[in-house]
Amino acid sequence: DEAAAPQALTDGFHLVIDALKLNDIETIYNVPGIPITDLGRYMQAEGLRVLSFRHEQHAGYAAAIAGFLTKKPGVCMTVSAPGFLNGLTALAHATTNCFPMILISGSSEREIVDLQQGDYEEMDQLAIAKPLCKAAYRVLHAEDIGIGIARAIRAAVSGRPGGVYLDLPAKLLGQTMDAAAGAKSLLKVIDAAPRQLPAPEAVQRALAVMKSAKRPLIILGKGAAYAQADDEIRALVEKSGFPYLPMSMAKGLLPDTHPQSAGPARSLVLKEADVVLMIGARLNWLLSHGKGKTWGSQPKKFVQIDIEPKEMDSNVEIAAPVVGDIGSCVSALLDGMGDGWTPPPAAWTETVTAKKDANIERMAPRLRNNNVPMDFHGALGVLRTIIAERPDAMLVNEGANTLDFARGIIDMYKPRKRLDVGTWGVMGIGMGQAIAAAVETGHPVLAVEGDSAFGFSGMEIETICRYNLPICVVVFNNGGIYRGTDVNPTGGSDAATTVFVKDARYDKMMEAFGGAGYYVTSPDELQRAVNEAMDSGKPALVNAVIDENAGTESGRIGNLNPQSVVSKK
Ligand code: ADP
Ligand code: MG
Repeated sequence: DEAAAPQALTDGFHLVIDALKLNDIETIYNVPGIPITDLGRYMQAEGLRVLSFRHEQHAGYAAAIAGFLTKKPGVCMTVSAPGFLNGLTALAHATTNCFPMILISGSSEREIVDLQQGDYEEMDQLAIAKPLCKAAYRVLHAEDIGIGIARAIRAAVSGRPGGVYLDLPAKLLGQTMDAAAGAKSLLKVIDAAPRQLPAPEAVQRALAVMKSAKRPLIILGKGAAYAQADDEIRALVEKSGFPYLPMSMAKGLLPDTHPQSAGPARSLVLKEADVVLMIGARLNWLLSHGKGKTWGSQPKKFVQIDIEPKEMDSNVEIAAPVVGDIGSCVSALLDGMGDGWTPPPAAWTETVTAKKDANIERMAPRLRNNNVPMDFHGALGVLRTIIAERPDAMLVNEGANTLDFARGIIDMYKPRKRLDVGTWGVMGIGMGQAIAAAVETGHPVLAVEGDSAFGFSGMEIETICRYNLPICVVVFNNGGIYRGTDVNPTGGSDAATTVFVKDARYDKMMEAFGGAGYYVTSPDELQRAVNEAMDSGKPALVNAVIDENAGTESGRIGNLNPQSVVSKK
């Protein structure tokens, strides 16, 4: 009889999984441990793709860049206290970069944590996460899991995207409730990132400033890449006739070989432009805060498209703020330009083109050099050709000189192909980003890493091998941070603070996990090894020996180092 039939139950574990699946979350970047080990197991059993890393920070960087690539929140899952803190670095990074991400951490007994009675991995994680992310929530009752996950998703992707912390106490996961009531408690978020149309008067104001320009410039930032409004952006650039400058992760939105690209004439256009249209880029340190020597003495007017109203006037006056989502704002500008748009004066565009052509011509022979030991230009000249031949490949890039040179030298041809250190200029994103790039896009990945940068996430090459991902890591090995030549000023036996083991064999690390290792010392060898690795579609690491004298202090941002007047170098 019906009354005696056992009640069908669900529990916290399964409600979390059902809520994520209902909202089309497919991949979880995690490190197992108490109290989320079984949650990961059940997730995998229920058809989610659960990728286990060796350290939470890299699982977090993977989730963050998955958010950038997909416009859906990338999900990282960690254990309590220390695991949570490891993941928090990546959550703060996601927030700083405006990438949607959710960090789900298990947490210890609330009653014990709040009375500070010394629980296993005790920490008030919600309080600690709050100042470092866009929003933070805790779910205490199984019937609130649906709402908790819906809020986390909406907070991550709506408006300016960012990182969201979701605290799931161990006890919650085991809580049971009636299965039918549980299913009813879940919700699928409707229109999680609604379009935000710009005000018509803001669009008119922007068009008036653009029309007044004698020496206009467009700057495309990674917000423009994130927006996935690729066709509209290309149409705006081409219709306007304005030269444009891509920020590093906006490279490829239009191919770097586009005639209007001003990348190789960066210094000139920043100094000389009179009107600058910013699309999803901020006037932060990466653009010298919109003032000073970089921007020259010519007066400038800025038009800025951004979804975040508070971004306007952050560093200098914005003459025409256009607040809204990039797709809608760019479309509105395109409509307003009509059919009779007058391109900028030829004197300006010809000056930019001449400068660009001269710089490209000057650089060409350096990129073809076959020096042994290799310098950055010889090695990157090879990788530049490889990316030109494989425009669908994903490029991950970090380091000091390795980053600065590669950004300028390697042309990109398609949107969202170049992933790098982002707004913080952080080291350590390499293997996490490479893994997510492979997983989320299915394309082969080339990760170009300084030897120091690689060290931050190097153990994740085991993860790469375990999942047999098509990732070729190239380590530019100059034996140190910036250079490999520093010596201990005391003459003592400790190594200098910035150098590593001489002739380190990173390629053998990859072999230890079953991947292919290559040791190369010339551009020709580098070319053969990377092509072979990329063709194989299997994990590979190319240890590219670079002259230990090559490289400058802090790459191109040495000016950010404070100087001692007492101790002279
Ligand atoms: P970059 O480092 O490439 O200059 P930033 O990260 O500094 O780029 O700037 C990205 C900007 O794009 C942020 O101010 C963010 O608010 C904005 N943004 C992100 N997504 C959108 C979107 N869909 N519509 C409008 N603006 C966006
Ligand atoms: Mg180095």
